Amino acid sequence: MEMMEDVVIVGAGIAGVATAVALKRVGVRALVLERSEGLRATGAALTLFPNAWLALDALGVSQAHPHLCSYNDTGFLHVGDGHGIRTIHRKALLEALAEELPVDSIQFSSKLAVIENEEQGGASIVVIHLEDGTTIKSKVLIGCDGGELGGGTLARTGRTSPFRAVCCARELYWFLTYNGDNMAGDPEQIQKQVLEKYAEKFPSSYLDVVRHADISTLTWAPLKFRQPWGIIFGKLSKGNVTVAGDAMHPMTPDLGQGGGSSLEDAVVLGRHIGNSVINNGGLIVPGDMAKAIDDYVKERRWRAAFLITGSYLAGWVQLGGGKWWMKFLRDGIFYKYLLGRISGLVHKDCGKLPAVSFGDMDHSSKKD
Ligand SMILES: Cc1cc2nc3c(=O)[nH]c(=O)nc-3n(C[C@H](O)[C@H](O)[C@H](O)COP(=O)(O)OP(=O)(O)OC[C@H]3O[C@@H](n4cnc5c(N)ncnc54)[C@H](O)[C@@H]3O)c2cc1C
Repeated sequence: MEMMEDVVIVGAGIAGVATAVALKRVGVRALVLERSEGLRATGAALTLFPNAWLALDALGVSQAHPHLCSYNDTGFLHVGDGHGIRTIHRKALLEALAEELPVDSIQFSSKLAVIENEEQGGASIVVIHLEDGTTIKSKVLIGCDGGELGGGTLARTGRTSPFRAVCCARELYWFLTYNGDNMAGDPEQIQKQVLEKYAEKFPSSYLDVVRHADISTLTWAPLKFRQPWGIIFGKLSKGNVTVAGDAMHPMTPDLGQGGGSSLEDAVVLGRHIGNSVINNGGLIVPGDMAKAIDDYVKERRWRAAFLITGSYLAGWVQLGGGKWWMKFLRDGIFYKYLLGRISGLVHKDCGKLPAVSFGDMDHSSKKD
């Protein structure tokens, strides 16, 4: 089977679905390919900072899903300028984003196998081969697969993070990061190791949370990140192909910015592609699209590099132990001079999507 699409997005995680929503808002239909059978949310909860809420506003998701975005005392930690820091269910966010898309926008059980390039009438077309033998030709490809499409090598942090939500009368979410990558695979063993080894000295109320965790969903993963210079100097796009979310900038979870920056990517990419489409009367013009993608990469590169560096440093000093020089670095330098600056990163407003007059759009809007 062979299909033709304007835009294909690989991966229906936060980055992929949010990017499809951003494109829909600017009148561009995207097909999202997801290898799983349904929406899948690794981990239980997600803490979203003001930058993430501002991106959700720009995507129109806050307005359409007030229950997701309303303040309540379970997830609410702090309010600054009207956008606080709140923790929500990952799945609820993914579902809210997916609800904004036309039916059939997400094609499940569709695993990308190989990508090729083809010239058609002087324009470069991406040929996508799926594992089931389907071939899709697309004018634009956005890799939101969480890692593999980003290219380059990922660095190991030497740290691991098991994470889980516990369900009692209320829901509690915890995760623990530690130095080392020798965690057992079996959930019961993970729980035992956390209680007896890694969190042994924690207050008993913390350990009770781990003890009462629903261990059937306890998972762990070695933490990886892309080195900041790989982002600053690396190739993050090629013609009409680019990456977003963890595929572009995997980072450690110490600032809780992986998901939020994926939402920012979606808005920025949507804005550049939207402007290109608007300027071309609703058409996706491959040459112009390559420029739009290049502008997106330029806008995101330094921001992603700062977030990766800030997250890594925050984790490094917190897990650095009690040696005198580490205490000096942590208390005398990091907390005193750097934390304030790094925390400022989570207030970034990634901007808005361009307003589109759908009457002026050509083929893109008709597909909706
Ligand atoms: C312990 C921990 C805590 C965290 N806490 C926070 C937090 O509090 N706040 C926050 O903002 N971020 C947090 N993060 C980071 C956040 O979870 C990620 O940055 C975010 O989920 C990345 O989304 P994504 O869409 O880029 O990738 P993913 O969520 O990994 O989605 C990728 C999707 O692509 C699909 N896929 C992969 N390969 C293929 C293929 N070949 N073909 C088709 N589909 C494919 C996968 O099945 C998946 O659905 C945390 C991370 C960890 C590990």
